[in-house]
Amino acid sequence: MNKIYLDNASTTAINSEVLTEMMPYFNSVYGNASSLHSFGRDAKDATEQARQKIASAIGCLPSEIYFTSGATEANNWAIKGIAHANSKKGKHIITSKVEHESVLKACEELEKEGYKVTYLDVDKYGLVRLDQLLHNINKDTTLISIMSANNEIGTIQNIQTIANIAREKGVYFHTDATQAIGSVNISVNDMKIDALSLSGHKIYGPKGVGALFLRNGVAIEKFMVGGEQEKNLRAGTLNTPAIVGLGKAVEIACRDIIANAKKMSSLRNYFIKEVQSKIDMAFLNGHPIQRLPNNINFSFGMVEGESVMYMLDMQGIAVSTGSACSSGSVEDSHVLKALGLAEDLVKGGVRFTLSKSTTKEELDIVVEELQKVIKKLRKISPITKAQVGKLKK
Ligand SMILES: *Cc1c(COP(=O)(O)O)cnc(C)c1O
Repeated sequence: MNKIYLDNASTTAINSEVLTEMMPYFNSVYGNASSLHSFGRDAKDATEQARQKIASAIGCLPSEIYFTSGATEANNWAIKGIAHANSKKGKHIITSKVEHESVLKACEELEKEGYKVTYLDVDKYGLVRLDQLLHNINKDTTLISIMSANNEIGTIQNIQTIANIAREKGVYFHTDATQAIGSVNISVNDMKIDALSLSGHKIYGPKGVGALFLRNGVAIEKFMVGGEQEKNLRAGTLNTPAIVGLGKAVEIACRDIIANAKKMSSLRNYFIKEVQSKIDMAFLNGHPIQRLPNNINFSFGMVEGESVMYMLDMQGIAVSTGSACSSGSVEDSHVLKALGLAEDLVKGGVRFTLSKSTTKEELDIVVEELQKVIKKLRKISPITKAQVGKLKK
């Protein structure tokens, strides 16, 4: 059985160009980038080249890039670190209800420490309510953190507008751009973004590595203490191969952005049309146009997303319900809830995320299997057609 992977928002396969670039740094250029001898200098040259590549891809200085273990760490660090370092000015943070868990839980920790956090609502397409944002900024607000694009429903936020508002009000703006890199053009200087998180493994790079862009001059608390790596803000020996891979992955993602977006969005639109024409009660979640080129999220009436996922898995097709972190447990998606969907449609959510090598033939097979699976599940559904979309929110 040829397996089909449509869970690329959870993680991607590493690009072969990226892997090739990483290889020498495991056992041939293996020095510690902090060492002063030639072995160390060679490793350091490689990490500085990667820093340079990322900086030029997102339009900042290399000195504004800090390597981390991924976007989870970058988000934790940005939110808690900026909040702590700027607490004399105020203890109020603004974020949204549809952020990744690593942002939401970092904010919850701040609340336990006595900070006030405003979680903005979104409209039915998942866009942050800008009127609410403006209304909630006050003299104690030090940070606004809104993701560039959502990992579950693919909605791309109006980041430029939000960044302008933050700058005008003298509030720092952080964005989790993990899903947006390689799909949305981002230039942190032009867009007035103060901090940005990104990750390797969502863009065909290695797992366990990411970066935080932090504008020079923005005060932040150290993430970890120990050695003096990363301008004495994030201790720990640099993971040279992973960092080299991250640099290459970001470079390729930003270089190929137009071609990949064009290819994937045309397949995405094809898949959406096929599903809507062949499956009854298939409701697209997220924004119809302002969405990631590789993201499709449907709620299917009279079925549970979990069951669809397991039954497709038996056919060798990998999809997801909501975010990877909440699958495995049966927690409802906080993102679908925030859209205001009825309870049955929250439970009926299924996410299909394409890669740059997904083919039309694969999508045709998925549509066919999906039709069968949903037909089977609807035969045994405890809810009736008349109840679809009407169960309590
Ligand atoms: C995957 C993801 C993260 C977490 O990234 P890791 O590098 O896996 O820690 C954060 N935010 C978004 C939007 C993501 O999709």
